[in-house]
Amino acid sequence: MTEPVRRDATDRCPGVFTTHVAADGAVARVRLPGGRIRPDQLETLAQAAAAHGDGYLELTARANLQLRGLTDVDAVADAVIKAGLAPSSTHDKVRNIEVSPLTGRIGGIADVRPLADLLDDRLQAADVSASLSGRFLFGLDDGRGDIARREPDVCAIVRSAAVPGEIVADVLVGGAVLGSARGDETVATELLAVAADMIDICHGAWRVADLAETERTELDDRVRARLAPAVGGPTPQPPTSQPPTSQPPASQPPDPIVGWFDQDDGGVLLGAVVELARLPARLAEFVAAVQAPIVVTPDREILICDLDEGVAETVVRVLAPMGLIFDAASPWAAVSCCVGAPGCAKALAPVRDDLLVRIRDGEPVTEREHWVGCGRRCGSPSGPHRSVEATPDGGYVTHRR
Ligand code: SF4
Repeated sequence: MTEPVRRDATDRCPGVFTTHVAADGAVARVRLPGGRIRPDQLETLAQAAAAHGDGYLELTARANLQLRGLTDVDAVADAVIKAGLAPSSTHDKVRNIEVSPLTGRIGGIADVRPLADLLDDRLQAADVSASLSGRFLFGLDDGRGDIARREPDVCAIVRSAAVPGEIVADVLVGGAVLGSARGDETVATELLAVAADMIDICHGAWRVADLAETERTELDDRVRARLAPAVGGPTPQPPTSQPPTSQPPASQPPDPIVGWFDQDDGGVLLGAVVELARLPARLAEFVAAVQAPIVVTPDREILICDLDEGVAETVVRVLAPMGLIFDAASPWAAVSCCVGAPGCAKALAPVRDDLLVRIRDGEPVTEREHWVGCGRRCGSPSGPHRSVEATPDGGYVTHRR
């Protein structure tokens, strides 16, 4: 039987208006619904990180950007607000919307970016959503299955778009398909209604997984009663950057979106990663200078989109030597970590330093790995991975998750 999770503390997730105080200074998290950020916005964040932080933008497991070691949180908040990246002080931390990163450019049944904008607007306008936890996660999957398989609290996965502009999507709650909805307006309404129902059923719940069995049953019953029958169908596998040579084992993640990709409209999309998922401010300014749309992904990738071939070649030639990694075979496309010591007071080890040593001197990386400084396992990937956790005796223990 599922035990309910009852939270005895307020949600301390950082945002722009309420930063988290870590051992190395304040941390501000900038929500990017769908991971999208304009070049001018990226430039603003880079300048704020250089002037008031540790000089890096951290890529998070929810496709957000984080500034750390802040000495002037008000100056950073002012810059973020001016850039249009924090449109609501009351709803800043609830704008957690993961979206298929390639939607509208490569594959997928429909472009769900307009739905993401609509959901973000409605989320900010809804009174009830202000009391949502900053951990509650909305997902919009354009039909390829990349977001649905991460099991957000509530997710819409597009099943058809037979009528232009009118999608039909299945709605999943905690990974279970409960029905379907038609059209962006209805889908957005249903996703928000799930969040409102969860709060109504159990005010202290942060996530659907926190609910007791009876509460979860009540939530599912309410949602099913509103929705049309599920459309169903197999969930397509996410696209890969190269043809599969063999059936990957269940614990192996899909290929990273790293390298050169041809868009459906003839443009080029470049995907890259950076060491330790920390984008140096100077490099971020160069990425912004490309003047192309940017998407960050829940796998901590940076996508530079809508390029023509000549510009794409120049971007690779200039930015690869500066630290953008365009090689999908790089270990940095498969490893991640929490901040560890000394940035986090709870850390049992200097995780970043140890991971750097592991990558430079250790065994090849053959599966997704996430290194953490304690059992809280911050920033862990949602899919199967090898979790390498620091222990009090100064070593690490490995778990499969
Ligand atoms: S996993 Fe532990 S050590 Fe790492 S950031 Fe979270 S609390 Fe700190």
